[in-house]
Amino acid sequence: MDTLTSHTLHLIKNCPVCKAKFGEGQISVVEKDEEGKATVLLSCQNCQSALLARVVEMPFGILGTASLTDIQASEVKKFAAGGKVTFDDVLDLYGK
Ligand SMILES: [Zn+2]
Repeated sequence: MDTLTSHTLHLIKNCPVCKAKFGEGQISVVEKDEEGKATVLLSCQNCQSALLARVVEMPFGILGTASLTDIQASEVKKFAAGGKVTFDDVLDLYGK
């Protein structure tokens, strides 16, 4: 498990919907920049909820915010690969 994944699991331990515990295999790193800012998607195996989180790696751990979304990892990666759509754009599209 890489540092980002383990830190994200430390920050977001459970699904906010059904309280199921998140595991390593349920985290997809959508994008990560050289400053340690990253966008990750957590998918709950139990209730199929998806949680989109924006996290920043710090020397002492990780800070972040997360919101429930109905977006799928493949869709986020498609946007990330395009390079022109920002995280906020994705939220605008799918956060309603
Ligand atoms: Zn769940």
